[in-house]
Amino acid sequence: MPDTNPGAARPLPARSPETGRYDAVIVGAGFAGMYQLHRLRGLGLSAIVFEAADDVGGTWYWNRYPGARCDIESMQYSYSFDEGLQQEWRWAERYAPQPEILNYARHVADRFDLRRDIRFLTRVGSARWDEAEGLWHVATDRGDRVSARLCIMATGCLSTARRPDIPGQDDFAGATYHTGHWPHAGVDFSGLRVGVIGTGSSAIQAIPVIADQARHLTVFQRTPNFSIPAHNRPIDDDYEKLWKSDYRARREKARTMRTGILYDLSAVPALEATEEERRREYEARWANGGTAFMGAYADLLRDKAANDTAAEFVREKIRGIVEDPAVAEKLMPRDYPIGTKRICVDTDYYDTFNRDNVTLVDLRAEPIESITPTGLRTTAAEYEFDALVYATGFDAMTGALTSVDMRGRDGLSLAAKWAEGPRTYLGLMTAGFPNLFMITGPGSPSVLSNMIVSIEQHVDWITDCVAWMRAAGQDRIEATQEAEDAWVAHNNEVAHGTLYPAAASWYMGANIPGKPRVFMPYLGGVGVYREKCAAIAAAGYPGFRLSHSPAEAGVKAGGVKAGAEAGAA
Ligand code: FAD
Ligand code: NAP
Repeated sequence: MPDTNPGAARPLPARSPETGRYDAVIVGAGFAGMYQLHRLRGLGLSAIVFEAADDVGGTWYWNRYPGARCDIESMQYSYSFDEGLQQEWRWAERYAPQPEILNYARHVADRFDLRRDIRFLTRVGSARWDEAEGLWHVATDRGDRVSARLCIMATGCLSTARRPDIPGQDDFAGATYHTGHWPHAGVDFSGLRVGVIGTGSSAIQAIPVIADQARHLTVFQRTPNFSIPAHNRPIDDDYEKLWKSDYRARREKARTMRTGILYDLSAVPALEATEEERRREYEARWANGGTAFMGAYADLLRDKAANDTAAEFVREKIRGIVEDPAVAEKLMPRDYPIGTKRICVDTDYYDTFNRDNVTLVDLRAEPIESITPTGLRTTAAEYEFDALVYATGFDAMTGALTSVDMRGRDGLSLAAKWAEGPRTYLGLMTAGFPNLFMITGPGSPSVLSNMIVSIEQHVDWITDCVAWMRAAGQDRIEATQEAEDAWVAHNNEVAHGTLYPAAASWYMGANIPGKPRVFMPYLGGVGVYREKCAAIAAAGYPGFRLSHSPAEAGVKAGGVKAGAEAGAA
């Protein structure tokens, strides 16, 4: 992408390539990589982290587009592992904006002294398992060549920004941006005509803010999305105190919930309520705002008739907000059940289409023919603008993993193994790749949850597993083929018992031409999944093959602190 890494525009600080041996290499320094580093240090292990950006924060480093903020309440979208941290950090808004979340990530890095083991502006290009040595050999674009027993991919589910192949895309003479690679210095759209392609969560947050600034905004929509108002507001002291007075207990409860979010999830099926009761319920949830809307009834994601009641309620809201009935009609999703694409949370999204300086173009009615030097041509018209924003999403869940040349046993390539869709055991490991862990990998609840809850659960599980292996004198772990096959089958069965596969979503890989249509995240729920993972650990890791490297058996049995290995490399 021409807009590329905003951090890489700065000069690379000089450093010598790393060549050491570590207990673990961690790839990525977002919330997952940071916490994993902290936990491994706690075991006395040596770890090095490679991060493509020039700072920590991951998603919140890259996605600096106007309006970017979390869609889970800040009091919940934060780490829970350290009581001091959660008590001292003060969130200013109900839904924290991107700069505040990035500051939080930086604060965590400083508080736990994480940066000294992170090599920034460094992209991992390959990782190769050596069966004889029982080591991963990891190479980066800065010349680092390190080896480690464990390779932990904390590369993120939504970190590979994707720009679709549109004819003429390099001909555009104006500035081009991707929401997932936003420039550090920000962008001033004042006085400009701007085009935005896409109407997913990123676009829905950015569009109202860009419209406020730009002379004119043209929104190119292929598929409309359901969006619920955020009703964002400052967090008042009483609310903060309420949370902090029993933060531990609240976090504990959240871990048992379907989505890892503490909110009111009804147990009642929608059609058991009368129409009037349903309206009251939806109105109350709309007024409260946010993703909790989907918790109104127990079966909204299982029963199409139930789902229709919620979908129709939102369509009515759109009809009520958007003044031009033709524009309102275009903004109403009709071809997939509500919630089966990640529900959006907005501030003034639908209202924005009442502005004189905003035009909505329905790409279903007039598909894009090409980008031109001055804008974009559809089958029906020519649109001109000075700046173009791609809000076109990500190669989700697998993109960051398969873009590294990962080679397991006998040179098996991860990209080749996953050519028909990702295959994992618990979303944590994949057969043929010993000692390779994925944090929030495909096959785990990950993107269907409060991701920090899922990240913490995976990091804790991996860390406990590594500690257990050490105590047991083992240094190799690998998912068995049978366990992986059974998990993939279970994953599919659970997904196909819901309405989710009815949507052409990025959960299904449907946003990338040619990507296999497989439902990637695990739909069993955060609480259920957590129990399954805990039960497997408690039973001594059935479904995983554990062994030890003959050459290392003496060292491990002697319990030498692995930090010493790094020095000896
Ligand atoms: P990331 O934050 O994606 O970090 C991965 C890091 O790995 C990145 O910094 C990347 O540069 C690095 N990396 C990747 N490949 C390599 C490589 N080969 N070499 C070196 N470094 C590499 N989730 C929620 O639960 N609630 C929300 O409100 C929410 N809002 C979101 C808003 C946006 C705009 C986006 C895109 C996602 C949002 N998410 C949200 C999901 C979000 O990605 C997670 O919540 C979380 O931040 C993921 O953390 P992570 O550490 O797993 O991955
Ligand atoms: P997205 O949901 O995948 O949306 C991409 C948009 O681009 C869609 O509207 C898509 O249309 C459109 N698009 C893609 N290719 C196109 C093409 N060739 N022509 C025309 N339109 C095209 O990506 P995103 O908005 O960046 O969000 C991704 C995920 O990140 C979210 O689902 C959410 O999990 C997370 N996120 C969260 C927040 C938050 O509120 N905290 C904010 C941003 C992102 P189609 O639908 O027709 O493919």
